[in-house]
Amino acid sequence: MKTVVYVSPFVPQEWIAAHGLQPSRVLLEHTKRVAIAQPAAGVCPFARAFIAFGLSLTDESAIVATTECDQMRRAAELLAGESSAPLFLLNVPTTWQTTTAHRLYISELERLSAFMVRLGGKAPTKEELTDVMLRYDALRAEIRGARGSLSGRAYSEAISRFHREGAADLSAARAAPLARGVPLALLGGPLTGEHFRIFDLIEEAGGQVVLDGTETGERTLPRAFERRRLHEDPFPELADAYFGTIPDAFRRPNSQLYHWLKGETARRGIRGIILRRYLWCDTWHAEVQRMKEWSPAPVLDLDVGDDDCESRAASRIQSFVGMLR
Ligand code: SF4
Repeated sequence: MKTVVYVSPFVPQEWIAAHGLQPSRVLLEHTKRVAIAQPAAGVCPFARAFIAFGLSLTDESAIVATTECDQMRRAAELLAGESSAPLFLLNVPTTWQTTTAHRLYISELERLSAFMVRLGGKAPTKEELTDVMLRYDALRAEIRGARGSLSGRAYSEAISRFHREGAADLSAARAAPLARGVPLALLGGPLTGEHFRIFDLIEEAGGQVVLDGTETGERTLPRAFERRRLHEDPFPELADAYFGTIPDAFRRPNSQLYHWLKGETARRGIRGIILRRYLWCDTWHAEVQRMKEWSPAPVLDLDVGDDDCESRAASRIQSFVGMLR
């Protein structure tokens, strides 16, 4: 079975699975370097890691890239010319409140369907899509239900594993010790495999991530499917659960992100927000000042470069958590 790889939360894994292909929202490794035809400075380490990963693929896999930011658009252009794997560019509109934007996203999923059929997949019937959606929805509910019993790192890794492999095996996650510390939200773009260490740094400083608002974590889980709408017509329900409800900084307006954060901050008693952003990521950089003005809890702006100097991050996290204790 061909694997379809992607990194964006706006690519519904059910849609790929329902076509008889293997979806995998991959976890990148930013330490894998690749020579690309751009200067190193100014390239987001995550986009660079995506390029390195895409170039390592054969035509046994296919890539779905998306248009959420200029860096990823440029990565897609480069991979379209250089990777052996077939590539599909899914246009994710930045606006989301209009019917036109929803229609555009739906038409993009239809285009993706045609691409997957060309790869050897088969367009699903309503019943087939419903079955796949119910299966994934149950797995997500299981993961959500485990949140309070897992460490911040174990929870985030379990979500990442689910996105990568479509399985919710929580036994290893439950074995990780559960620390209690100052309750914090971790917010920002995607993590690479090496970056999960940030959860340990926060715990070592006396904090605890009780809300994973990174792109890798719970923020980007689509809402649960509404059963009546699912059984009436699963495809629009699938599109709405992803496009209509996942909050992100690139969306216009991005009020959903603040609405989500406000509710979760109050529910979980969050006392500080760590906004972790890659250097050269304009999308999250633009949120820093607004987040500081908006948030009732203190905000730490933690920038991460190519080499992610751990000691610098550790000392900044220690000072921040120390101030909150
Ligand atoms: S982290 Fe920022 S610059 Fe990098 S891919 Fe994501 S949105 Fe784009």
